Amino acid sequence: MENLHTFTAHKLLEDKIDPAKISASVSERIKAVESKIRAFAKVNPPPVWNKGKLGGIPVLIKDNICVKGEETTCASRILAGFRPPYDATVVRKLKEAGAAFIGKANMDEFAFGSSCETSCYGPTRNPWNLDRIPGGSSGGSAAAVAADETILAIGSDTGGSIRQPAALCGVVGLKPTYGRVSRYGLIAFASSLDQIGPITKDVEDAALLLGVIAGYDEMDSTSVDMPVPDYKKSLVKDIKNLRVGVPKEYFVKGMDPEVESSVRAAVSVLKGLGAKLVDISLPHTEYAVATYYIVGPAEASSNLARFDGVQYGLRTKDAKGIINMYTRTRSEGFGSEAKRRILLGTYCLSTGYYDAYYLKAQKVRTKIREDFEKAFGSCDIIVTPTAPTPAFKIGEKANDPLSMYLSDIFTIPANLAGIPAISIPCGLSKDGLPIGLQMMAKPFDEEVIFRAAFTFEQSTDHHTKRPKL
Ligand code: GLN
Repeated sequence: MENLHTFTAHKLLEDKIDPAKISASVSERIKAVESKIRAFAKVNPPPVWNKGKLGGIPVLIKDNICVKGEETTCASRILAGFRPPYDATVVRKLKEAGAAFIGKANMDEFAFGSSCETSCYGPTRNPWNLDRIPGGSSGGSAAAVAADETILAIGSDTGGSIRQPAALCGVVGLKPTYGRVSRYGLIAFASSLDQIGPITKDVEDAALLLGVIAGYDEMDSTSVDMPVPDYKKSLVKDIKNLRVGVPKEYFVKGMDPEVESSVRAAVSVLKGLGAKLVDISLPHTEYAVATYYIVGPAEASSNLARFDGVQYGLRTKDAKGIINMYTRTRSEGFGSEAKRRILLGTYCLSTGYYDAYYLKAQKVRTKIREDFEKAFGSCDIIVTPTAPTPAFKIGEKANDPLSMYLSDIFTIPANLAGIPAISIPCGLSKDGLPIGLQMMAKPFDEEVIFRAAFTFEQSTDHHTKRPKL
């Protein structure tokens, strides 16, 4: 059989395809296109298994997730040569399910970014247009799925890093509810926001992969002890009377007209399928980016304090004393966006500024969460664009952090509120660039997201469009 690399995991499993053939097809594909895309931090020859729920299915892991014995760098020089002595819980679960590790995915350094340009390995390119960014920070994971260099991928999402690249690469990306998936072994960016989740070719694969990685873990005190539903049961094509909230704050003047028209068309499709549209308001949305850029960097500055040349990765040569060693290691090891985040975060947490910034941001965060609680009184899911524009050009925003930060304007609120959110393809721009539709739900209601996303997907043909490489 040909072109097995273009198949979904559920199709390969249903058809009981020989894992050796899948591996061979994916390896061939990587050889053919990886030099153009550069989605991988490292390519592994896939081991061939055939047991377990994901027996033999290739999976690509973002480079901020620990795989025992495999170099794990967060695409940063400061972690060069770091080989974790243990597996992240998601990796352990994937291994137990028989998934085949085909490598580590490129990303923005420490997951700071929306374009995959801040990696020490150089940028990843968007398979739909090689002059464009794939989104970030899980840009390598999303680009590899879009380019058929892997069947499944794992990303992480702190402010949009699964959903935004999934939208820009025309694939499916899910940020689960905070606490649904263990963060043990995920190198922390902002511990109160980070979640690991699937990036896949369709909704069914996202449900399959979440089912494998979700669940309580005693190694992560923020993981929640709730049974993991059988998400396959949510894959029904029926949204009759589902209440779909459309928040006015996500359709603003000046937004990209093609994004707006594709998302509005998707909302009409949902209505045509029997959903009830509800106008809702999330009044604190306008404060979300500002809040995130206090909470996120504050937590990051604290989490990144451990990279000091003593225990992990890089240590500068010929340092004069311990302080000089710390300073030089960090100056040489971190890239400029990481330094910017550390400076912002340290400032917000320092004496005299803590109340004005960090504490205030926490209060606004509560307001944002309350907006969602209130909105979910009158709707079951909330539908919005995932990103304000399709993929932009490599270099276009690299020197303009503020405009880069605004790429996550629609994805950040779900992280601040801790709620689950998916991005699925809903169209192409006239330049042939993918546009994503975001669906959000109440905490731990991934099931309604899967049902709505599956119904939309199976009633349209957006997910069947592939980039020509
Ligand atoms: N782009 C956002 C940032 O730069 C979100 C990143 C993420 O979710 N890891 O912080």
